[in-house]
Amino acid sequence: MPQFLRGFLWIQLYVLVSVVPLAFALLGETPPGRDFVTELSVALGFVGLAMLGLQFAITARFGSVAAPFGMDVVIRFHRLISLVAFAFVLAHPILLFVTDPATLELLRFWDAPWRARFGLASVVLLVALVVTSVYRTRLGLSYEVWKVAHGVLAVAIVATALLHVQLVGYYVATVWKQVLWVLMSAALVGVLGWVRIVKPVLQLRQPWEVVSVEPERGDAWTVTLRPVGHDGLRALPGQYAWLIVDGTPFSAEEHPYSLSGSTEREDGHVSFTIKALGDWSAQAGDIEPGTRAYVDGPYGVFSPDRNEAPGFLFVAGGVGITPFLGILQTMADRGDRRPITLVHAGPTLDELIGLEHVESLRDQLDLELVLVLEEPPDGWEGETGLPDADLLDRVAPDRQRTRWQYFVCGPPPMLDAVEEALEQHGVPMEQIQIERFDLA
Ligand SMILES: Cc1cc2nc3c(=O)[nH]c(=O)nc-3n(C[C@H](O)[C@H](O)[C@H](O)COP(=O)(O)OP(=O)(O)OC[C@H]3O[C@@H](n4cnc5c(N)ncnc54)[C@H](O)[C@@H]3O)c2cc1C
Repeated sequence: MPQFLRGFLWIQLYVLVSVVPLAFALLGETPPGRDFVTELSVALGFVGLAMLGLQFAITARFGSVAAPFGMDVVIRFHRLISLVAFAFVLAHPILLFVTDPATLELLRFWDAPWRARFGLASVVLLVALVVTSVYRTRLGLSYEVWKVAHGVLAVAIVATALLHVQLVGYYVATVWKQVLWVLMSAALVGVLGWVRIVKPVLQLRQPWEVVSVEPERGDAWTVTLRPVGHDGLRALPGQYAWLIVDGTPFSAEEHPYSLSGSTEREDGHVSFTIKALGDWSAQAGDIEPGTRAYVDGPYGVFSPDRNEAPGFLFVAGGVGITPFLGILQTMADRGDRRPITLVHAGPTLDELIGLEHVESLRDQLDLELVLVLEEPPDGWEGETGLPDADLLDRVAPDRQRTRWQYFVCGPPPMLDAVEEALEQHGVPMEQIQIERFDLA
């Protein structure tokens, strides 16, 4: 089935499942009529809860869900839609308070009945989850602490909300409605069980071992792993995987890294080029050969294999070169001589990660390499500054652009600038692929 059709069907399914609890509530026997605003408030609460429940499925890294969109798009959807669900859930009590101010009494947690306590707890926890997610960096929360708290809060929110629904009892009173609610809750527990237990157990059976750790320019290291007792990954060049080194698949310390080696290797080895950008990655150089590792992947849609193209313009800023290292090595191994222009940008020559790997492939590829330095050395005759519209004009004249594919990976401001420049030059959106390294 074509990916766009798959994507369309996933969206339909999402909308359907979001409104299913509402349909449950309204079908069959319903309680005696209440005013419109109260009904609306309950409806928003049900839909908000279903959307929150669906967040577990969205972020469970199901390959088939991510395939049509790319995991980064799925995660961005997760972030945006959580705000919509948040608004729906908040509207539920607010509308009740407005129509019947006596219900404000239910906010007195210690005197309130359990149904109200669970409802209130769910909303308070949801506020905590949204605040810690939106303001994570400002609150000084490390990614790892936030990730664990996020998971715990999410489960607590949905569990308390389900208890609230059950104890309130309106709309869920008949046996078959109870059965449907139990089934929905079971689906949720199933997704959690899959993510937290089944998948890590399966991963335990597919260990990897570090075979080498090579220093690179730009404060980076290339870590190469071999599959132990299995065939390894079947990945497309440009994809990424989640890496755990010296931990178990149950560990919260896992990080996404692009495959920076060839995906055509017969020995199944994979490489990741890790730049020191934080507490974990700064230690990458200390990883010892022989260390056990786990790899969850591949993920991502940033691959030239997904679309036919007569040529490519690759724009890499800083550590954004890593997926291109994998793509170029793979194209060289395949004997693929389609023309490529690679714009490789960074602060200084010493910080252009992987430069020697790229240069070593020149003979095997039809490659034009354009280096762009922010702080060029004396006598530098190449490009300077940041990749922008003028530079793209020079390196990829319009006649080349008609059916080429454009791949861009780097710091967010560069991604936005290059995307805008390409669009201004009339490059259709479907020919532009962007990889963002800032999922969280
Ligand atoms: C699709 C993708 C591909 C990537 N490929 C590469 C690559 O090839 N080479 C490379 O050097 N970097 C890559 N990164 C970035 C890399 O994942 C982060 O730099 C790394 O996780 C930082 O971890 P840390 O603990 O050292 O830093 P921290 O100080 O803990 O984190 C720095 C920032 O990195 C992000 N981050 C940290 N941990 C995670 C995580 N587990 N999941 C998502 N984001 C996280 C957060 O935004 C965080 O604020 C990629 C990121 C993504 C999303």
